[in-house]
Amino acid sequence: MTKYLPTIIELHKTVTELRKSEELLDGIPDWMQELHQEHSARKAEIDELEEAIAEATQERRGTEGEINEIREKVKQYQEQISLVRNQREYGALLQEIDGAKEQIKGLEEQALAAMERQEEAESKLGEERQGFEDLDARYAVELEKWEAQKPQVAEEAERLRGRIEVLRERLPKPIQGQYERISARYGGEALALVVKIERGGRGANMWHCGACNYRVRPQAVVQIQDHGTLEFCDTCKRILYLDEAAD
Ligand SMILES: [Zn+2]
Repeated sequence: MTKYLPTIIELHKTVTELRKSEELLDGIPDWMQELHQEHSARKAEIDELEEAIAEATQERRGTEGEINEIREKVKQYQEQISLVRNQREYGALLQEIDGAKEQIKGLEEQALAAMERQEEAESKLGEERQGFEDLDARYAVELEKWEAQKPQVAEEAERLRGRIEVLRERLPKPIQGQYERISARYGGEALALVVKIERGGRGANMWHCGACNYRVRPQAVVQIQDHGTLEFCDTCKRILYLDEAAD
């Protein structure tokens, strides 16, 4: 009988390693994680300030535009004063002018507040940028170092892919399929370690599935031990394996 379990265990290890390599290639290595996070956080702060400046500037401009429009209206009202024919029309015009002036006052306050916000953000941005320069330079150096390491990681990933192909070919198609299905169901974790239940030397040995804790039949353990056959957990259906180092 061909022992497929060792091949599946190696396949599983290799697939896991490949996944780590691929994740690494898409991301940032551990040794520059801290700097990366600091860099991202500071970068986000700068972006936020730039956004706040843009927003305040837009608000100020919009408000100033509104003020100009209302001023034009006031000018028109004032021109109309010489044309009024009676007290009622005069009073109505004055009321319009007062209302418009009141509106202008409110808008001017709004524009001033927006300008203050803009200036405050600009001054903060200046400070942030100064501090960021040094961090950004350090980050660029580490990034370059990581870029230089990447080909080696990519090469290792390629080697792992080759090894996976070899291991897959050693397995009959139905077993390959079975492994893939269980793996897909458990996010790549198709295997479960069989764990011996410590009973302090009393009674016969008992085992449970390291993934779902359900009891494993002693017969299955013997099969794995003696023949390296594929045994599945009765509950979660993962492929069971034994810790070689344990007795
Ligand atoms: Zn299980």
